[in-house]
Amino acid sequence: MGFKRKSSVWLGRSLLGGAIAFAISLVIVANGQDILSAQPSTAFTTLPSAQIHPLPSNLAQWRDPQQSGDYFDQVQAVVVNYLVWSTFPVTVYVEPPTDAEQTNPFTAKRARTWITAVEKAVQEWNVYLPLKRVNQAEDADIQIARSLLALRFDRTNQDGETRKLPILRARSAETRFELYAKKPTVAISDPFSMSEQPSILSHRVTVYIRPDQAADYLQAAARHELGHALGIWGHSPEQTDALYFSQVRNPAKISARDLNTLKRVYQQPTRLGWMLAS
Ligand SMILES: [Zn+2]
Repeated sequence: MGFKRKSSVWLGRSLLGGAIAFAISLVIVANGQDILSAQPSTAFTTLPSAQIHPLPSNLAQWRDPQQSGDYFDQVQAVVVNYLVWSTFPVTVYVEPPTDAEQTNPFTAKRARTWITAVEKAVQEWNVYLPLKRVNQAEDADIQIARSLLALRFDRTNQDGETRKLPILRARSAETRFELYAKKPTVAISDPFSMSEQPSILSHRVTVYIRPDQAADYLQAAARHELGHALGIWGHSPEQTDALYFSQVRNPAKISARDLNTLKRVYQQPTRLGWMLAS
């Protein structure tokens, strides 16, 4: 198997009152493609119990007559169990050209190419899970940003084995999630009800994709990272799947196996999308 996964979830028990605080440190290392990670986020004293949300209608309608199977066994359960969205459409912010990029024709064009590729990938997934572009980064469930990702020490070789001397490797992309308590939206006419309503355990995802790649690769990278952002927190061992662990010359479109896997993820219980104890 040509890839390696590492994960650790740390659960600490506070000495006071036996309350359980949750902190996360989780990294899945994959060869040549990207990094999945969890941001250290608010420590919650208790998390909601994991329950199953209704299956989103487009996924419920999805059928695979070829019965091509899935790679659900490669999807990581994290501290909240599965990374399932339960409020639709999922909002997506795509970073516009920055002022600095606009001042230089090369970087301005590069930013536009990147944006077009990312937009296409958003449309591809939108067929299966409703996504909506938003213009405010702060409001977005998923933020997609251009970034020249820092070089990282990589200890795995091409066969997924640990090497003695790590090499510096530039990642093409990275996807992170963090947990937060989402206040329920309330009507302006009722400003006092906000404090009374319990918050919902929610997640937000940030995707970084390097801009210095050809348009086809950018779209493939965005397709792949959006697969993670939508809940496939792991990699496929098959080159014909968009969530294949490595970058390849002819990147795959969203495959039946990708969709079968996504559908299974959305059939799992999750702590996300349920009320936090007040
Ligand atoms: Zn990946």
